[in-house]
Amino acid sequence: MESESPHQLNVIFVPYPTPGHMIPMVDTARLFAKHGVSVTIITTHANALTFQEAIDSDFSYGYPIRTQVIQFPAAQVGLPEGVENLKDGTSLEMLGKISSGIIMLQDQIELLFHDLKPDCIVTDMTSPWTVESAEKLGIPRLYFYSSSCFSNCASYFIRKYRPHEKLDSGTQKFTIPGLPESIEMSPLQLAEWIRAKSAYSSYFEAMFESESRSYGTIYNSFHELENDYEKLSNSAIGTKSWSIGPVAAWANRNDERKANGGTIRDLEKEPEWLNWLDSKKNESVLYVSFGSLTRLPQAQIVEIAHGLENSGHDFMWVIRKKDEDGDGESFLLEFEQRMKESKMGYIIWNWAPQLLILDHPAIGGVVTHCGWNSVLESLNAGLPMITWPMFAEQFYNERLLADVLKIGVPVGVKENKFWTSMGEEEIVRREEILKAVVLLMGSGQESKEIRRRARELGDAAKRTIEEGGHSYNNLIQLIDELKSLKISSALAKSKLDD
Ligand code: UDP
Repeated sequence: MESESPHQLNVIFVPYPTPGHMIPMVDTARLFAKHGVSVTIITTHANALTFQEAIDSDFSYGYPIRTQVIQFPAAQVGLPEGVENLKDGTSLEMLGKISSGIIMLQDQIELLFHDLKPDCIVTDMTSPWTVESAEKLGIPRLYFYSSSCFSNCASYFIRKYRPHEKLDSGTQKFTIPGLPESIEMSPLQLAEWIRAKSAYSSYFEAMFESESRSYGTIYNSFHELENDYEKLSNSAIGTKSWSIGPVAAWANRNDERKANGGTIRDLEKEPEWLNWLDSKKNESVLYVSFGSLTRLPQAQIVEIAHGLENSGHDFMWVIRKKDEDGDGESFLLEFEQRMKESKMGYIIWNWAPQLLILDHPAIGGVVTHCGWNSVLESLNAGLPMITWPMFAEQFYNERLLADVLKIGVPVGVKENKFWTSMGEEEIVRREEILKAVVLLMGSGQESKEIRRRARELGDAAKRTIEEGGHSYNNLIQLIDELKSLKISSALAKSKLDD
């Protein structure tokens, strides 16, 4: 990567192999390249295939971007070739093997840092060790935070003041300390490693702590959405930050294919889902998706099916199956057949072209697990949401949508659990689903207000990435600052050499 020109800025991005982390980081890398930075993305072969088409296209337009492929140790961890991303894990055992394989990539990545001699590295919370790599190379490390500023603040203050420890029950409410607004949560909605100290707690603490030891933070968010919380995160955590989102909308602007959305392309020309949506009235269809990782228990799938059918509203539902789903097969196949006949519902198995679907005028609302990318993508399309958080920081994002932005209707989830440990007790019942759908998709005053606010935020999301918009300016400022750093460190080095 040694410079094409002495002033060319060279930046390495290392995306974590799960769509929620990888898609926004690759989009950010593409934005850097579109603004003249020479970019290298380090990833494994199967992961590269999911976005390489977009990189090749950018490169063919003259943008200095490339992928550096490293070897995933599939055989060493006992996985078949090609399983290199957490979204491919259909059981706890498989997820464990994929995670082990990812950890083993560290040496190859570190070697590449050394060989390619970048001016800056961009990595996310999952690679806290890159702080030391950057220190050794004497370059800045930027921490890419792949969720909301609000969630970063909420998590910071809850970890610091531990308000949940003062309560007797997991369902009692506490007010999140340190925030400018009074926002309530209950202990069970926190990630398990925060609720009770365990071996995992120090592992996660190290990830968060690496932010304050970094040069600064990149947020996939924007000024008009949560500027107060970005400022709060800066003052609390003590780092600089740049909000440059929504990066998916920006990087894929004018691209009708919307990049690859984290999967190898398998869409025909006139896909069936598009014909189905084309046959529907504007804003009449609810899009239901729980992100790239979650695979729901059969009992929950049954409740969702009934809740959606009973609501009377049309829907498009993305279902990801578990390994042991054999016995649920017939229920879902019958349901799918019934929905096909009534034309009320459309099921997408495993993976949906989400960006394209959300932009379709027939979509009128979204059921989301509150993964930050899905939230931003819905918001960019001006869509209101039913919030159904599952795990990690998704419960904070629910509070942002419901209490701060007032564009989300909570379905009422009580406990933070990854799908591998979800049981019968956590099932959301069909009546609650129906209630939320009828409220969001109905024509009542509350629904109209929620829609109006969502539309306004969608407009702001589009303006902020235009030339002169906040996110646009932030990206330019960040790149300029990195260039200045490069020049001053080169000057300092030449003085030492003299
Ligand atoms: N995604 C998609 N199709 C799917 C599921 C997910 O394109 O069927 C994309 C989605 O658009 C988003 C990312 O995968 O960009 C998921 O990230 P998010 O933060 O929403 O949730 P996570 O999967 O990390 O829980």
